[in-house]
Amino acid sequence: GLAQIGVTGLAVMGSNIARNFARHGHRVALHNRTVAKTDALLDQHGSEGDFVRTETTEEFVAALEKPRRVLIMVKAGEPTDAVIDELANLMDEGDIIIDGGNSLYTDTIRREAAMSERGLNFVGAGISGGEEGALNGPSIMPGGPAESYTSLGPLLESISAHVDGEPCCTHIGPDGSGHFVKMVHNGIEYADMQLIGEAYDLMRKALDLPVDKIADVFREWNSGDLDSYLVEITAEVLSQVDAETGTPLVDVIADAAGQKGTGRWTVKSALDLGIPTTGIAEAVFARALSSATDQRAQATGLAAGNLASSPADPDTFVDDIRNALYASKVVAYAQGFDQIAAGSQEYDWNVHPGDLATIWRGGCIIRAKFLNRIRDAYAENPELPSLLLAPYFREAVETALDSWRRVVATAATMGIPAPAFASSLAYYDALRSERLPAALTQGLRDFFGAHTYQRIDKPGTFHTLWSDDRSEVEA
Ligand code: NDP
Repeated sequence: GLAQIGVTGLAVMGSNIARNFARHGHRVALHNRTVAKTDALLDQHGSEGDFVRTETTEEFVAALEKPRRVLIMVKAGEPTDAVIDELANLMDEGDIIIDGGNSLYTDTIRREAAMSERGLNFVGAGISGGEEGALNGPSIMPGGPAESYTSLGPLLESISAHVDGEPCCTHIGPDGSGHFVKMVHNGIEYADMQLIGEAYDLMRKALDLPVDKIADVFREWNSGDLDSYLVEITAEVLSQVDAETGTPLVDVIADAAGQKGTGRWTVKSALDLGIPTTGIAEAVFARALSSATDQRAQATGLAAGNLASSPADPDTFVDDIRNALYASKVVAYAQGFDQIAAGSQEYDWNVHPGDLATIWRGGCIIRAKFLNRIRDAYAENPELPSLLLAPYFREAVETALDSWRRVVATAATMGIPAPAFASSLAYYDALRSERLPAALTQGLRDFFGAHTYQRIDKPGTFHTLWSDDRSEVEA
């Protein structure tokens, strides 16, 4: 018989998703540019379900029931365009092409427009959860035409992760919306990891705690309101002992963080949208600085000045760090959700933030208990101006605030970099400020460039004649 879904691109992600479909009872057509990969998959896992082996794209397309559903899992960028083109030439009106790779949302907008002109449904689907998630249940963020979700939704929902019986997959919105929210998800993942890194670094450098003790702290945190996949695996990674040297593995791993681009994309988009996604930006820049290894090697002799000594009570300071981590995390999510709201408005996507919190509770890398709180917050008020204004988070941050300030102050006086903790706190303080120095910025702009300003006491646009008699005129 014909297959319900086809998967082309059988590297790690594609193979695991194909197996996931098969394990859920779907008949899956397999295709890969290099046929040997298709055969390797069938050799190792062919018995897991109902697979259809194909060699050429023609055979692959012919193996599918109508409307055809093809999931592309190839390298993002040009390879994806090439594969889309080849498929589109063989497909009929109403067929669905799904791009499950990490495509840039603007590419997805372009591709969706081109495919819709040809009568094809194009679905850009963000898929999170890495290899493991792909096999056992990822979080899936499909965009594209709403009609396509009728036929595609149940299939995708069946292989997604589930939390409390609800699938971690829902239709996000038109064209590039799925890949956009996946991009911001990855950005939040960057921020989360940076914050965890800073918490770890403070325990090591401010408190001199041994690595195995720090692993225990994370393990304990994972049983409270920080319960999350990333905190859980932090304990795992910190517990790992290097077989060769007998020291903690983290001490022999080179401290230069890589990046594949989704964090950078998130920050570029934030800049374009004018949304201060500072937590994610700090995380991207921190990775960049870590990777500037030559420059760092030459800078290790730079002065540190007079450094403060360690906090007197280590246990209290560990609690402080936990609170700072939690509060900074709320800020990172608040900013990420602001960016999604701005993107949704810019592109007319009508993305529901509460839906995202729901489908990010399982399957994806940022899955966390905390997301239930975000979901509740948006359920209570879908028009929430900032996550920080939701009653639950408002109170949680208020409770954490003294700790947060102590941690940032200690980091500064002890010479320990904590850019994400510090900038999240600065963001929070700026957000709640009645007056900002932006008034002076406006004055300066008016002085050198006659950029004008507005007044707090009357409507209109004004300019001071700085190089004349310094009287004010209405512009
Ligand atoms: P890769 O990104 O390494 O891509 C390899 C696959 O792309 C192979 O099947 C390869 O075929 C195919 N390919 C490359 N160029 C072409 C081309 N010109 N024409 C046809 N096929 C081509 O695989 P991954 O499994 O790591 O990722 C797949 C997608 O999923 C990517 O977009 C990635 O960004 C995304 N993703 C990855 C995650 C991860 O954790 N790795 C998580 C979430 C998303 P061949 O065997 O013939 O070389």
